[in-house]
Amino acid sequence: MTYIADLFIDGEWRAGSSGERFDVIDPSDLSVIARFAVASEADCMAAVDAAASAQAAWAATAARERSELLRAAYDIFTDELEQFAEIMVRENGKAWSDAIGEANYAKEFFRWFSEEAVRIPGDFRLSPSGDKRILVDRQPIGVSLLITPWNFPAAMATRKIAPALAAGCTTILKPARETPLTAAYVVDVLRRAGVPSGVVNLVTPVPTGPNVAKMIDRPEVRKLSFTGSTEVGRDLLRACADSVVSASMELGGNAPVIVLPGADMDVTIEGAVLAKMRNGGSACTAANRFYVHASLHDEFVERMNVALGEFTTGPGLDRSNQLGAMVSVTERDKVAGLVDAAVADGATVVRGGKASEAGAFYDATLVTGVQHGSRITMNEIFGPVTAVVRYDDVDEAVRMANDTIYGLMAYVFGEEREAMAVAHRLEAGMIAINRGVVSDPAAPFGGVKQSGLGREGSSEGILEYLEEKYIAVTA
Ligand code: ADP
Repeated sequence: MTYIADLFIDGEWRAGSSGERFDVIDPSDLSVIARFAVASEADCMAAVDAAASAQAAWAATAARERSELLRAAYDIFTDELEQFAEIMVRENGKAWSDAIGEANYAKEFFRWFSEEAVRIPGDFRLSPSGDKRILVDRQPIGVSLLITPWNFPAAMATRKIAPALAAGCTTILKPARETPLTAAYVVDVLRRAGVPSGVVNLVTPVPTGPNVAKMIDRPEVRKLSFTGSTEVGRDLLRACADSVVSASMELGGNAPVIVLPGADMDVTIEGAVLAKMRNGGSACTAANRFYVHASLHDEFVERMNVALGEFTTGPGLDRSNQLGAMVSVTERDKVAGLVDAAVADGATVVRGGKASEAGAFYDATLVTGVQHGSRITMNEIFGPVTAVVRYDDVDEAVRMANDTIYGLMAYVFGEEREAMAVAHRLEAGMIAINRGVVSDPAAPFGGVKQSGLGREGSSEGILEYLEEKYIAVTA
């Protein structure tokens, strides 16, 4: 398949003004699959110019028309699901089933926000003193810069572009260096759906930081929506402070799983495997540390060991492999480093623990005897490693679960009322009870503490791209 590997600015595909390109790598064999255009500072500024010029007309486009363009994009995406999956497998390394899963999830944001575009709420009330009528209108915030990571290269792009477009904002998408091909394909779907020139732009600047900062500095840019690491998120929040740009942040996670005494083990293992292994563990919602009650610990470990043993590792284009490559050798080595550190702290590797010699693979891994507070429980693993901590007391499990700067996702397995009681005590923006996956375009996705600001998806998602305007009318 041929890949689109250019910038998209003002409705056209362009090589960057510098003529330079960077390599896009297939992490399963480290081959170069494309050379993507580098965006220079001038290209980034041209993208802001294009988005700014298109803003007024796009905001004035009827909501029904914006809705139908998104719906057309959904239909194209649906027809081309396998092409999307193939690109994601090639540049990200993920398993075929994960790629199809992501493509299905990604396209739903076009459908969901095509439906939300025509339901933007306003408000009207009388002032208590009776002197005026209070009209609250919602207007598009303006040019939106959207920065996405490599782990879900399609879904993170559609989860931002769809609400922005539905709200009437024009956009500049800055995908991760590792996965620009999927982003380019998403943008091309929107182009083919008929989205006007300048409404969606795509840039891949090198170096990233300074060029992104220059875009944020442009007064026309009013919104930054970022998904990525907490470290980069903090820097971007600082950059936004200078021109008081509205920022939505989906940052790192460190999801605890609490297995309560009395948990149904069939349900627990099924959910635990999904929570851990979906997308090869490269998800900010991925289960990061398993707190298992002493009464169930040995059975949990034994059954997880069997379940993880069923994962075959290998290139995602071979559809029988359930665990693909990590996105890069660097990521693979990061995961290996965390497992090594856990072992140095006294943990035992029950299964896996091996990095591949060729390609960026890391086997499904099970580590027991992990100490709460060790590096593997405090850092986002982002790989297929199940780290098990044994506990005796539920209050202690809740304390350990909350003992992190992050607060994106948490999982609880147990009898439903007890699990609900624990869920209320957990510091996380999203909690799964007796299940391994929560993501749904209709649900508010986001974190508390240093996992982020704002929500994506649901009816909240579009509000991130709208500003309230209060108009007072004399009664
Ligand atoms: P990940 O761990 O997912 O790679 P990063 O936070 O490093 O998380 O990357 C997420 C996104 O942020 C990517 O698109 C990446 O290119 C971008 N990025 C990385 N560094 C910066 C920076 N200094 N300024 C703006 N964007 C950045």
